[in-house]
Amino acid sequence: MSESAFATKYRLRAYRKKKVLTAFLKKLSKNQPKSARPLILAAQKEAWKQVDCIACGNCCRTMTPTWKKTEVKRLAEHLGMTYQEFFDKWLFIDEATGDIVNTTQPCQFFDMEKGLCGVYELRPHDCATFPHMYRRDFFDQTEVYTANLHRCPATLVAMEALEKAMRTP
Ligand code: SF4
Ligand code: SF4
Repeated sequence: MSESAFATKYRLRAYRKKKVLTAFLKKLSKNQPKSARPLILAAQKEAWKQVDCIACGNCCRTMTPTWKKTEVKRLAEHLGMTYQEFFDKWLFIDEATGDIVNTTQPCQFFDMEKGLCGVYELRPHDCATFPHMYRRDFFDQTEVYTANLHRCPATLVAMEALEKAMRTP
């Protein structure tokens, strides 16, 4: 599935910044400075100021959420399906992780024309919190953020802003 022009622009930028940001995140994970907390929050705010998820949709187009059983049940009921019908139609268990994930990408609920989630109010928690930058264990997630630099413009902008803030005396 091809990405949006918006996502392509950020992906190319991520490739240019990859070396610097990967080294920065590795160091951050090792040092875990408490003083970085307010800077992390500011960097996240900056990301959401700059990035419009509707122009991107990369997570819905190219990744899968992890579904909780209760979320499958809730959405199946909403669609008038049984848990098993919903599961058989759209999901499988990833053998490597044991997670319930989508069979195909883009996500079956992504409206390609509008760039919107068709089940927004009932979307999985994993979707609602992606790209997971508000976690308490932020410093332990740096490998995930590194992997998402070229996939998620919001992650890229947040890490760029954080690197800049921590570099500036
Ligand atoms: S459920 Fe909605 S938000 Fe989650 S991946 Fe699918 S389309 Fe995107
Ligand atoms: S969360 Fe990231 S990948 Fe998903 S739509 Fe927003 S910017 Fe794009």
